[in-house]
Amino acid sequence: MADSVVYNIPARMVEEYLGRRVIVRSHKASELVARVPEESMKDLACVQLLSLDGEVDDLIHWGDLVPVDIVMRDPAEFPKLYRYADLLENHPVRVSIPMVPGCYKAVKLAVSLNFAVKLVIAQQPDQALIDELAQLLDLYLHRPNVAQPVEYFHSTFLFFFHGEGASLWSVQEKDPSVIRYISDEGKETISPRLEGIAFGADCDSVVADYQRALLAEKGECESCEFWDICGGYFKWPDKQYHCDGVKSLFRTLKEAAGELQCELKSFEELQGEMQP
Ligand code: SF4
Repeated sequence: MADSVVYNIPARMVEEYLGRRVIVRSHKASELVARVPEESMKDLACVQLLSLDGEVDDLIHWGDLVPVDIVMRDPAEFPKLYRYADLLENHPVRVSIPMVPGCYKAVKLAVSLNFAVKLVIAQQPDQALIDELAQLLDLYLHRPNVAQPVEYFHSTFLFFFHGEGASLWSVQEKDPSVIRYISDEGKETISPRLEGIAFGADCDSVVADYQRALLAEKGECESCEFWDICGGYFKWPDKQYHCDGVKSLFRTLKEAAGELQCELKSFEELQGEMQP
């Protein structure tokens, strides 16, 4: 088992995972504060707050600089985000927002409050959702008030800019070779999104096995220009899903990264010309 694996555990299991890298989750801020001891802070990747309904004051002055991930179940809850703004006094804060219809308003408010955002890819997007995501992408790329990353757009942009980087499986925290999910019953498993995927004793190879099978089918993925960043992520669970819309979003990000590369090159050339 690789030491680099992060375990997403319920707060009541903190003691059992001491010494291992963990994400600790709870519906209550008060439980996170009560359960996570000082000695395990160094192993904390972050704490996850699974409900936007509880008190949050306990968390504000606890655990200096421990990242907090606020997990929204429904983007319509977005007005509740105002209550969490004070967390930024002491923590980097990310809001995980399901990538479903209505996510635009939630993301817009989250970034205006200066929260980082992770779009949780919860379904294979239909055209209406692709249109909403295109609006979001425009917000991420062009609005000056977006100072925090919006994932998966941000990592994808960097991937295209640098020509390398983490795949969507890692960015979405769904690669079992990187992150394992410990159920509320204490069972070690892979991400709930991959429910139904076939895997043997070795969790580490789940994604690689799935990708090998996808490529062997010689379908849309085989010739896809975005394979290196996507790795077939959008073909789960329905392999017949058509990726035209998804690819258009990747293409917009690729073009934006290319434009920035050109601008930087021109700037460097100009600087060179101005040197005595
Ligand atoms: S965008 Fe679609 S076709 Fe391309 S790699 Fe991803 S899942 Fe495969």
